[in-house]
Amino acid sequence: MSIQAPRGTRDVLPSEAYKWNYVESLFREICEKFGYKEIRTPIFEHTELFHRGVGETTDIVQKEMYSFKDNGGREITLKPEGTAPVVRSFIENKLYAEPQPMKLFYITPCFRYERPQSGRLRAFHQFGVEAFGTSSPSVDAEVIGIAMAFYRKLGITNLELRINSVGCPECRNKYNEKLKEYLRGKLDKLCKTCQDRFDRNPMRIIDCKTDSCKEEIKDVPYMLDHICEECKTDFEGLKENLTLMEIAYTVDPTIVRGLDYYTKTAFEIVSREIGAQGTVCGGGRYDGLIGCLGGPATPGVGFGMGIERLLLTLQNNQIEIPKPSGLDIFIAAIGERPSKEAVRLLHKLRLEGISADKDHMNRSLKAQFKYADKQQAAYTVVIGDDELEKDIVQLKNMDSGNQEEIKLSNIIQELKNRLK
Ligand SMILES: [Zn+2]
Ligand SMILES: [Zn+2]
Repeated sequence: MSIQAPRGTRDVLPSEAYKWNYVESLFREICEKFGYKEIRTPIFEHTELFHRGVGETTDIVQKEMYSFKDNGGREITLKPEGTAPVVRSFIENKLYAEPQPMKLFYITPCFRYERPQSGRLRAFHQFGVEAFGTSSPSVDAEVIGIAMAFYRKLGITNLELRINSVGCPECRNKYNEKLKEYLRGKLDKLCKTCQDRFDRNPMRIIDCKTDSCKEEIKDVPYMLDHICEECKTDFEGLKENLTLMEIAYTVDPTIVRGLDYYTKTAFEIVSREIGAQGTVCGGGRYDGLIGCLGGPATPGVGFGMGIERLLLTLQNNQIEIPKPSGLDIFIAAIGERPSKEAVRLLHKLRLEGISADKDHMNRSLKAQFKYADKQQAAYTVVIGDDELEKDIVQLKNMDSGNQEEIKLSNIIQELKNRLK
């Protein structure tokens, strides 16, 4: 029996890879325009990084990590998300000592052992940006601006940006007391997961998708109504910056982020066609994370965006990604000497930066033309014994069908002129 790809993984075949290349280069281009530089971190890290950087209490760490002991007995995990490795690198390479803010982006595969019925992949891909070193809300808005500019350039327009503030340790501790007070009497009516959350992470209860929980907490107090003066000023600053950038937003006080190191700005970008679970991008501020991973107290803000989800959104919006153009030149040769001439010419053309190919299957001339057509060749160069006698080749424009004789010694220059 032949070997199949592991469950939850997908091949990107040549018929699709051009879409990946397109969105990746566009993402790179936009990030660079915003002054963000690419960072690449390893596929695997010490497991400890994610225990501290993603959080012991999260589903990711508790159930979904690809962790193993390597041959040296080290606890290793394939990265389940992009932020913690970037923060680890920021600290380890002392990027905080360089001029701030340090603005970074990444394109990375991630790995999570998700339940197969959820339709999610176990090996998936993410775009992300992180800006370290400033707590100015103008950078929060800039980070959001990258995502919005990217979607706009791709032609995805039916998106909604939702923003919230999840406060800071100062105001959140006070708020958590109020929240617990509200929830305490309802605890036995909440789902099992929410009962667990009550002590560890009461804010996550607001995020529960269970209908009965939603009903119980419909009058729940929101963090946004209890944020301190500093958090309020920063939230107003974010809104002002977004308005200046002409980016529409909705304030959504139900957006929560589970962990202590998340602070202030939290946002989601929601697409309207995938249905209830239409979040295509999520992010926010995490002023506590760098300190939590052992670095000097440094603020940070960023987002993550699933690439598979992005491609699905493009498909649902019937947005076509430009197909790569075909070959510039196909060389059709018949006979032994012409075939040798084809090898010589082909390699020359390629070195000149012209995309070119020839037959490798011993096809008839007719079949070579058919193949050239399939490769969407713009021109076909025909070399036969008669042509070589006269030191010429036939050049056929595959679009118009026009055929002309060209001197063999001039062919590269002639092709260059025509391909301009
Ligand atoms: Zn606060
Ligand atoms: Zn619940």
